[in-house]
Amino acid sequence: MRKVVKFGGSSLASAEQFKKVGAIIRADKERKFVVPSAPGKRSSDDTKVTDMLYGCYALAEQGKDFKKELKAIQDRYQEIIDGLELKLSLENEFQTIEKMFREKAGVNYAASRGEYLNGIIMADYLGYEFIDAAEVILFKEDGEYDAETTNRNLRQRLEGVEAAVIPGFYGAYADKTVKTFSRGGSDITGSIVARAIKANVYENWTDVSGFLIADPRIIYKPEGIETITYKELRELAYMGASVLHEDAIFPVRSEGIPINIRNTNAPEDNGTWIVESTCQKPKYVITGIAGKKGFCAVNIEKDMMNSEIGFGRKVLQAFEENGISFEHVPSGIDTMTVFVHQDEFMHKEQQVVSGIHRLADPDSIDIEGDFALIAVVGRGMKSTRGTAGRIFSALAHANVNVKMIDQGSSELNIIIGVANADFETAIKAIYDIFVLSQI
Ligand code: ASP
Repeated sequence: MRKVVKFGGSSLASAEQFKKVGAIIRADKERKFVVPSAPGKRSSDDTKVTDMLYGCYALAEQGKDFKKELKAIQDRYQEIIDGLELKLSLENEFQTIEKMFREKAGVNYAASRGEYLNGIIMADYLGYEFIDAAEVILFKEDGEYDAETTNRNLRQRLEGVEAAVIPGFYGAYADKTVKTFSRGGSDITGSIVARAIKANVYENWTDVSGFLIADPRIIYKPEGIETITYKELRELAYMGASVLHEDAIFPVRSEGIPINIRNTNAPEDNGTWIVESTCQKPKYVITGIAGKKGFCAVNIEKDMMNSEIGFGRKVLQAFEENGISFEHVPSGIDTMTVFVHQDEFMHKEQQVVSGIHRLADPDSIDIEGDFALIAVVGRGMKSTRGTAGRIFSALAHANVNVKMIDQGSSELNIIIGVANADFETAIKAIYDIFVLSQI
């Protein structure tokens, strides 16, 4: 039985944090494959090493002096090395980095050094083998992650390896040029490694004890989620629940490996289990609530729309032609509404409107902005009558006008559209009715 353990930036921000991580790893002999992030913030006004690297490289790229900035990064690592009393020296590594920056090795290379160096320290601290992610995590020419080749290579590379540290966040193209995932991408690396070794669990250690039912910035001390399915998480993550990178579930999902979100600062907490399926009844009918502001509704009207074959396709083509993806498309008999991200849509709205006219010849188009979408997610909803009724009566009592309702046929979630201004009130009302009052 082998576990992959990924530690986020705040878990590795200082020597003190490294020691906690060391204790966690040593406490369980199955924790053999470690994926570290770069050192994160030590306090709320601190800067993540990744951001320092971006800043430093920006100077290099403009041909400006970046010595002071690079030294500040080196100091962050040296502080960790000294605090852990390691004999390790990163002097040569920093000379190489300086040279590569001067040669303008690219912003991806620059950002990746945060994880790379932290991986070297971690491997030295634990006495584990260091495996450079650039050798095992591969990207295709078009910049997409190459899942199958990586899985094959990584599996082979790790065969017979007892214990290893593989830095998160980056990999490389076939020509060895370094490429990073999007921000927070070490979560994806952890998942990739877990898949490759067919781990029995992927532990993702961070600074919170798992997912919460709702956003703590809106709900005072919301309850945690004990178990959530991949599908539920996907819905919540897409709508803004941000403990884990939203692409991190894909590699482990294909092997049915559970993810356990844990708190480095409270290792005794069980955290959240993310699983393929479970017979465990959720504590409440809903598993979680998440949402986002900043959507725009494009209402399209045309008499007899329903009987016109291909109308929907033509409308959506106008969005596609302008490179805009849509979120939801609720429709009526003579109306159809397309929900899009306002900031993406704003700059292209007139092209889209004229495109719809050209392609679909509607009677009228009306655009309404400043919408928020809220997803109420829960596998328990399927077997419970009256969930929608409870949501909408709670919203009515809270004086929230519901502008859109969309329930997927999986009955896993209900999406509700409200005005941006009603967003927080709506979430409070839904949390109240399902969690606090439980009526
Ligand atoms: N260090 C990178 C970031 O700050 C990646 C990660 O932490 O997962 O986004």
